[in-house]
Amino acid sequence: MKCDRCDKKMKIAKMRFNSHQIDGGTCSCGQRYYHPEQAERILLLNKLKKQDVIAKLGRIRSNLILRLPKDVEVALGLQEGENVHIRVEGSGFRIVQTH
Ligand SMILES: [Zn+2]
Repeated sequence: MKCDRCDKKMKIAKMRFNSHQIDGGTCSCGQRYYHPEQAERILLLNKLKKQDVIAKLGRIRSNLILRLPKDVEVALGLQEGENVHIRVEGSGFRIVQTH
């Protein structure tokens, strides 16, 4: 990977980004590179932590389904077909990712 500022080869490194570790690189000129999708995911995660996420309940045959917004899928790296655990707490529930 080449530096977009000085064209030298950048050193691949784990970069600190908003108190998370992501892939990236550093150059001797001081330029830094952050993996764009990983950085975007961290920003999304931080945004979602500051607000309530509205998820709509739907139904497929006899099953009630929970429709999660795209931002939640991307921020948490959720995959279709993946199992999540539901913990009933107080008057509601919390969804826990197990991977
Ligand atoms: Zn450079």
